[in-house]
Amino acid sequence: MEHANLNRALGRLLGPEGPEIGCDVCFEELDRYVDLELAGKDADAAIPGLRAHLAGCPACREEHDSLYALVAGE
Ligand SMILES: [Zn+2]
Repeated sequence: MEHANLNRALGRLLGPEGPEIGCDVCFEELDRYVDLELAGKDADAAIPGLRAHLAGCPACREEHDSLYALVAGE
């Protein structure tokens, strides 16, 4: 039981579940994703897996947050 939980925790750390999105795709789609978010559109439906990638990738999440703040501030 504990090992199963540990494996699940490790899996979450090592990579997001669901559609595989890498940092390269994430980076390419981030502009569009943030635009959709700020427009009140369903960004997760438009770019499936990106939110999961952000949740599992601190570097891209930081990129997202700064881009979001930048675009929102304009
Ligand atoms: Zn990433």
